[in-house]
Amino acid sequence: MLMKVDYSIRCRAMVPMAEGAPDVVRDALILIRGNKVEWAGAAKDAPVDVSAANVVNMPHAYAIPGFVNTHTHAAMVLMRGFGDDLALQEWLTTKIFPTEEGLTGDDVYWGTLLASIEMIKSGCTSFADMYFFMEGAAQAVADSGIRATLARSVSSISDPNAEKLKESLEFCLRWNGVADGRITTMMSPHSLYTCSPYYVRRLVNLAKENGLGIHTHLAETKREEQYAMENFGMSTARKMDELGLFDVKALVAHCVWLSDEDMGIMAEKGVCVAHNPGSNMKIASGIARVTDMRKKGLTVGIGTDGAASNNNLDMLEEMRLATLLAKVSTLDPTALPARETLKMATLDGAKCLPGGDTIGAIAHGMKADIAFIDTRAEHMCPEHDVISNIVYAASAADVDTVFVDGKPVMQGRRMLYVDEQEVKRQCAERAARLVGRSKV
Ligand SMILES: [Zn+2]
Repeated sequence: MLMKVDYSIRCRAMVPMAEGAPDVVRDALILIRGNKVEWAGAAKDAPVDVSAANVVNMPHAYAIPGFVNTHTHAAMVLMRGFGDDLALQEWLTTKIFPTEEGLTGDDVYWGTLLASIEMIKSGCTSFADMYFFMEGAAQAVADSGIRATLARSVSSISDPNAEKLKESLEFCLRWNGVADGRITTMMSPHSLYTCSPYYVRRLVNLAKENGLGIHTHLAETKREEQYAMENFGMSTARKMDELGLFDVKALVAHCVWLSDEDMGIMAEKGVCVAHNPGSNMKIASGIARVTDMRKKGLTVGIGTDGAASNNNLDMLEEMRLATLLAKVSTLDPTALPARETLKMATLDGAKCLPGGDTIGAIAHGMKADIAFIDTRAEHMCPEHDVISNIVYAASAADVDTVFVDGKPVMQGRRMLYVDEQEVKRQCAERAARLVGRSKV
């Protein structure tokens, strides 16, 4: 019987990341119908009667599942490079918070658009975001073609009357499933040190009542853990568990200062962790014990955090930082091998998001979120090991084409839905205004 598909894509090799599939399939063929992968495998095993509306040949490209950036604050690209090399509290209070005071919804729209372009151009197809003016962020996701899980970050410090909880819930309900399902939503208390227990409990109840997950920061700094011990006599993770936060789908970022007991509780509750090696190193927060977390059964994805503390949103670079940091911190070169690191950046990251079982692998029935990495640069030669070249040698500039939800959003490094120059112009002007200068 004739199989009708929208895209037939043949490429040099594919890393499917799917259950039961080989690690690498050479001379691969991917057939896409609608927003899903209809068939993927070796070209020689392909179904014979296929009629494709679009035939794409990329004999120099590797296909991988698009990266999932599990923790970022996309619009913070507007503060990229503004206030580097400062202590965390000084950075926050003298640079970031005063700048954020001046933010508008339009700033967040343009900032998130710039971040989306940057992420797509480094092979990322989904991201988990927590920030403010999320209507602007959602519109940018809808316009750029990327996929995202969005959360309006709230704290009781800036919301003493808990009015923003309602606003945050309304945002979740309004945008969940919008843009052909590319947008999903979560609730988001900023952290335990900025939210009272009462506030967290109210937020957790709203999330439970509405079937929503929660995205928050957890155990990022030593100071945060000291705060929890002094105020609650227990760790941040134990307190959050007591407040019910782990009873819903929870995505927690950083987890640098977890104890073994914390990890045990979180593993039992199925909590997902966003590991942010670049940000943790730059802010000198410490080193998350990723190998231990994974041994205990926690799902750990990789995230860039915001560009103000990274300073880019390049998942290829973040993946490399993750594996190198795991090795040097354990003095074990076998820690976090390339394949496991790539799995964290794709399949495991996908599990951290609501609806994440439909992304993160190239296989029949999965959403067609795929990045194609060109192999013609000098640093990709020779080719002893496809996965090694992707994890240890590739750079964002090698990402040539990206599909999200069955459609190309970038082809030959050209964005198809957004005007890149206009986005950069808008962001440069807005960033200058935000930091109080008239011109860049
Ligand atoms: Zn963060």
